[in-house]
Amino acid sequence: MTSSASREHGFAIHLMQHLVVPTFVLDADCRVLIWNRACERLTGVEAGELVGTSDHWRAFYDAPRPCLADLLVQGRIGEIEDLYVSSDSGGTNEHGYHASNWCVMPRLGHELYLTVDAGAVYDGDGHLIAVVETIRDMTDHKRAQLALEHLAARDGLTGIANRRSFDEKLEREWLRGKRDQTPISLLMVDVDHFKRYNDTYGHQHGDACLRQVAESAATVVFRPSDMLARYGGEEFSVILPNTGMDGAMIVASRILESVAALAIPHSASEIGHVSLSIGVATVVPGLNEHSDTLIKVADAALYKAKHAGRNRVVTADM
Ligand code: GH3
Ligand code: MG
Ligand code: MG
Repeated sequence: MTSSASREHGFAIHLMQHLVVPTFVLDADCRVLIWNRACERLTGVEAGELVGTSDHWRAFYDAPRPCLADLLVQGRIGEIEDLYVSSDSGGTNEHGYHASNWCVMPRLGHELYLTVDAGAVYDGDGHLIAVVETIRDMTDHKRAQLALEHLAARDGLTGIANRRSFDEKLEREWLRGKRDQTPISLLMVDVDHFKRYNDTYGHQHGDACLRQVAESAATVVFRPSDMLARYGGEEFSVILPNTGMDGAMIVASRILESVAALAIPHSASEIGHVSLSIGVATVVPGLNEHSDTLIKVADAALYKAKHAGRNRVVTADM
């Protein structure tokens, strides 16, 4: 290197050290060339520990794994999707990539959601000589986004899944059932004589009762793939993917019993406490059938449960 080239090189490093954006640079052997001050501040790991090593993963994770810059150096772009929760190739520059991940941040002792951009630097002959990775801490943004998503998916009164989540989930599971030809079951759950309950105890007690019913049902619908949702008003529904009639009947009976066990007084009902009627439907989705089919069948079963005297589980005749 000529002395002027070496001065330029030194200046470039100096510049990068003071960039406010956390940045590190790997050489063509995945060794850390530069680990700037902002990167030290973000990760709690000092440059002296990492420069000249390939230990930069330690700043982010508690077990060895490639960072985005390593994948670029090693030409392993195809693995980005497996190693990051979200990724896409960035901008018009075919060598620029960005990806995001929850990182353990061992030195800080708390997780951060980091979005990273990595771009390769080539020499005059087109050989890769370095990869620059810049890092943005998007934790607050991500947490706000997750909180909003949670809010948008929940019913305000009961805290269980809302109608929108129900519709989306049913559609997803219906398509899955259609593809795999597996049964999907649906329970339609309706509080008996709830108009009378409101009339007797007032709307606010009605609201409290709905909350108790939802909470109680939630304790017996515990498989992660199942969903208990507020379908509307005093109606709840349960989606049971990959579940046949026998399994659906078991869940329905558990819900009926759990609410009976609450023994919420209801002087205007025949049995003196709050009860439910539940319609159960099980369908293996047909090729040309829509998910509405399942709702209609479960509704018909619920109607029969009401007419047979309420406080019971009834299955649909398919
Ligand atoms: P059935 O046994 O046939 O189901 O009779 P029901 O009285 O429960 O049925 P109906 O559909 O006639 O009445 C439903 C009642 O549920 C009327 C409505 O005011 C009440 N309701 C719906 N949503 C809410 C709510 O969010 N809070 C309260 N307190 N009441 C609600
Ligand atoms: Mg109703
Ligand atoms: Mg009702």
